[in-house]
Amino acid sequence: MIDLHIHTSASDGTYSPKDIVSLAFKKNLRAIAITDHDTIEGTAEAVREGKKVGLEVIPGVEISVEWNNSSIHILGYYIDGTKKVLSSELNNLIRYREERNPRIIEKLNSLGIDISYDEVKTAAGEGTVGRPHFAQILIEKGYVKNGNEAFRKYLQRGASAYVDKKRLSPEEGIHLIEEAGGIAVLAHPFMIDSIGENKMEELILKLKQMGIKGIEALYPTHTVQQTLQLKTIAEKYNLLLTGGSDFHGKQKPKIHLGTGFGKLRVPYELVIRMKKALKG
Ligand SMILES: [Zn+2]
Ligand SMILES: [Zn+2]
Repeated sequence: MIDLHIHTSASDGTYSPKDIVSLAFKKNLRAIAITDHDTIEGTAEAVREGKKVGLEVIPGVEISVEWNNSSIHILGYYIDGTKKVLSSELNNLIRYREERNPRIIEKLNSLGIDISYDEVKTAAGEGTVGRPHFAQILIEKGYVKNGNEAFRKYLQRGASAYVDKKRLSPEEGIHLIEEAGGIAVLAHPFMIDSIGENKMEELILKLKQMGIKGIEALYPTHTVQQTLQLKTIAEKYNLLLTGGSDFHGKQKPKIHLGTGFGKLRVPYELVIRMKKALKG
C-alpha cells in the first residue's frame, strides 16, 4: 500500500516531514508522496529521511487554482526542487497570502472579535499561516464550537471575515508543475464545489487539454460509484490514476495515513505507471 497525498507541517499538517516518514514506515507503506499546499519546503527533508529508513518518497506539491469561481487542487508528482521557477512562484503565492492574513484579522476585529495575528502565527508554528489556524484560535477563545462553524460564520467565501486571495489559473498551475519536471494530476475531483457526475467528464477533458496527466480517483470521501466513474474516465482518456488519504495529522484527526477513514487502499502499481509516464 502507498499514500500519494500527504500534508506536513510545511503547510497545514501537524507532523514534520521526518515524522511522516517514520509513521509511514511503521505502517508498512511502500511509497508516499509529500503534497503540501503551495509549497515544496518539506519535500527535501522527507526524501532524505526516506533514503535513511528505506522508504520511497515522491517529492510533490498540491497547488490551488481558480476555475469558474471555485477552487480546484492540482497535485504535482516528481517535482524537481532544484528548478527554481516553481519555488519562486509558490513563494509569490505565499506572500500574497501573507498580505491577506492581516486583512482577515482586521475584519475579525471589526466584528468585535479579540484576535491578533501573532496568535494565529503561533498556531501555525513553522508552517504557512492558513485559515485553519484562524479557526483554531476562534475555537480556543470560545467564539465558535468547531472548525466547521468557524468557516461557516467567518472564514469561507462569502462569510463575514472572508478576504479573497490571488489564485493561479489551472493552466498556470499545470504549467508550473510541468516546468519543474512533474506530473500534474487533478486532486479529489468530487470535492470540487458544484461539480456533479454529469459535469465531471467535461471538466477532466478540459484539464487534460491543459496538460493534466492523471486523476486522483482513490480518495477517502469518494464513494465507490464516484471512484468507478473516475476510473472509467481515466481509461477513456488515457489518464493515470492516483490516490491518497490527504493526511493532515491532528488537523483532520479522522483521516489516517495510508487508509483514510479506514477503507482506503492505494496499490503500488500506480507508482510504477507514473514512473513509466515520466520516462515516456
Ligand atoms: Zn486538496
Ligand atoms: Zn491535500
